[in-house]
Amino acid sequence: MSENSKIEWTDHTFNPWEGCQKVGPGCDHCYAEARNARFAGGTAINWGPDAPRRRTSASNWAKPRAWNDQAGVFMAKHGRRQRVFCASLADVFDNAVDPAWRADLFALIQATPALDWLLLTKRIGNVHSLLPEHITGGELPNNVWLGATITSQAEADRDIPKLLSVPARVRFLSMEPLLGPVDLERPRPGPDLDQGGGSKICQPWLIQSGIDWVIVGGESGPGARPMHPDWARSLRDQCAAAGVPYLFKQWGEWLPGENEPHPEVKELNGSPRRVAHHQDGRWGITSTKVTGHNYVTWDEEGVMRPGKVDFCWPVRAWAERVGKKAAGRLLDGRTWDEFPAP
Ligand code: SF4
Repeated sequence: MSENSKIEWTDHTFNPWEGCQKVGPGCDHCYAEARNARFAGGTAINWGPDAPRRRTSASNWAKPRAWNDQAGVFMAKHGRRQRVFCASLADVFDNAVDPAWRADLFALIQATPALDWLLLTKRIGNVHSLLPEHITGGELPNNVWLGATITSQAEADRDIPKLLSVPARVRFLSMEPLLGPVDLERPRPGPDLDQGGGSKICQPWLIQSGIDWVIVGGESGPGARPMHPDWARSLRDQCAAAGVPYLFKQWGEWLPGENEPHPEVKELNGSPRRVAHHQDGRWGITSTKVTGHNYVTWDEEGVMRPGKVDFCWPVRAWAERVGKKAAGRLLDGRTWDEFPAP
């Protein structure tokens, strides 16, 4: 799917600069910060409110123009326009970035009209105030898809109205890492319109208010938090009901299971082990010790408990830490790779 990126929903990744500051729970295990520290000998020198951001090289800035020049070849091969994710190692609407850099970025976006630029931000509230002056009327260039990261219901209620307030051709949600259930079928915040005589027109659902695409994914990397399968499934069903394309990106580090066969844990040499069921009815004990770090269960109320299972209460779902690759990206037995219409 991707030509120059390992990310499932983009063809290219472009970083105009590197460096950022954590702004919420979705940043807790920031891959980019860890990478920054790795390359700088252990300290993330471009992270924090006062840390300098690092602009990338001129040769890197030249890449989008080359991709733009190859648009005909790409279209002939794939039958669609190229998607560019900007930025995976920073946030375009970080207010600690030199405004001149952002102006250069938007000039580049406007100079590459054959590319669709996916600007995904955790600072959606900054967009209006940080758009460069030459973006007249606050309207984003036609080749920008504007996305907000949403990890929880609180962020959905707070940030989706901000996303909807920005004029953009395509607006999307990246719900990764998804950290809890999210209901998008609730009225968009705002006053109901009084029609007189006590009747009111209610605000439409959030998901019907101008969201063109929803991406859902679990967390990967060290410290990743498990995602309940119902959270991903519910968002898929809400999108289907509203006619919004849905892309299930990954489970992340934790692979869930649910209902039957019921998970079991037995003692082996004094430590709890997960029982593996075999198709012929036999079972064996896995070599993995069951601990709070590699095994969690949820009860019917959605309460998560780490580690060894107590079968006095009913288990609704469980998840094992198996690694991102092994966990894969099948939801209810298939992939979900929907995109906004061209
Ligand atoms: S906004 Fe993105 S790049 Fe910045 S700290 Fe958060 S996760 Fe990392």
